[in-house]
Amino acid sequence: MSSVPLGLVIVGFGGMGHEHLRKLKGVEELAVKGTFDVKPDRQELALSLGLKAYPSFQSVLDDPQVAVVLIATPNDRHRDLAIAALGAGKHVICEKPVALNIGQLDDIVRASKKADRLFMVHQNRRWDEDYLTVKKILDEGTLGRFYHLETRVLGSRGIPGDWRKLARSGGGMMLDWGVHLLDRLVFLIPGRITQVYCKLNYPTGQEVDEGFHLFLTFESGHTALVEVGTCHYQPLPLWLVLGTHGTAVIHDWSLKGGIVARAGADADAQPIVAGAGLTKTMAPRTEKGEVQLPLPKVSSDVRDFYRNFVAAALGKEEPLVKNEEVRRILGLMEAAFESHRKGRVIAFE
Ligand code: NAD
Repeated sequence: MSSVPLGLVIVGFGGMGHEHLRKLKGVEELAVKGTFDVKPDRQELALSLGLKAYPSFQSVLDDPQVAVVLIATPNDRHRDLAIAALGAGKHVICEKPVALNIGQLDDIVRASKKADRLFMVHQNRRWDEDYLTVKKILDEGTLGRFYHLETRVLGSRGIPGDWRKLARSGGGMMLDWGVHLLDRLVFLIPGRITQVYCKLNYPTGQEVDEGFHLFLTFESGHTALVEVGTCHYQPLPLWLVLGTHGTAVIHDWSLKGGIVARAGADADAQPIVAGAGLTKTMAPRTEKGEVQLPLPKVSSDVRDFYRNFVAAALGKEEPLVKNEEVRRILGLMEAAFESHRKGRVIAFE
């Protein structure tokens, strides 16, 4: 890289702000100028790491060395901070979920257009290798005609932290994890989503959703189950992908899993004893009736997100995360909330 790196300040130096600092060390297109956080202990942490701790948000905006503001605060602050930064002539990287509703995002996009500055949302899980593995399997047609998939993340320790439990801060698992899973899902199943059915769950009585089951139907006929849980003590696969000739499973982020595909005809089925009855339909395949395949290998570098951001800010590339895309996912989450509230399927798109 020959040009001078763009100066960047991390606003909100909590868990994710710190993670950005770690990732940015490998991105020579951006130079971290410092951080700003409203909590004194996070300001002290920045100083102890040899960073400049800006005394106020305004001082970040006033610094001509700062070209990029990276917002990693709780969700309810994104809108106002982004609009102020754009208005001060800064490009903005914003954490997900971009905002609490579509109206807030539209306000930000208007500010971005008016200031002629780039606003891009950190949908980093598009670079996850589990997701990219599923994408490769589908692109290669390994499973025959693909018709359904399940994508999920499960934990057992409840909602972490403080603001994530508060509705006014934009807490809850739909906005936290749902936004990631849905953001990727729509690249696996293109086309219109026709129906949305969602049940949020509140097993420990929090004021925000602690998890959910969300069922989507696509115009193409594909269906998808999206599941997030924080009170779930047994692991279930991150991904289950069903096609007419095979099934792929990815158990965890270490990419344990594989593909079972059909070999030859289905003439090997023999009835088996199943509970108090017999079944041939549900009998497992025999060795000669199936082939086990490893998951295809993919590799990715999430730092490409930041590199693309800089190239897009300089007008050299299209942004990889587009505001229309994140707007559609906000709409989808709004439909999911409506489905839960009304207890019925919502027609979407
Ligand atoms: P956190 O609570 O650990 O950190 C948030 C920080 O923002 C806190 O230190 C808080 O003091 C500070 N803050 C609050 N209001 C502020 C303001 N007005 N100005 C400056 N600082 C302010 O939360 P977190 O887990 O780091 O999450 C922050 C954001 O990052 C959220 O939007 C969350 O959804 C997102 N996030 C994204 C990912 C991802 O993989 N993309 C992962 C975790 C969190």
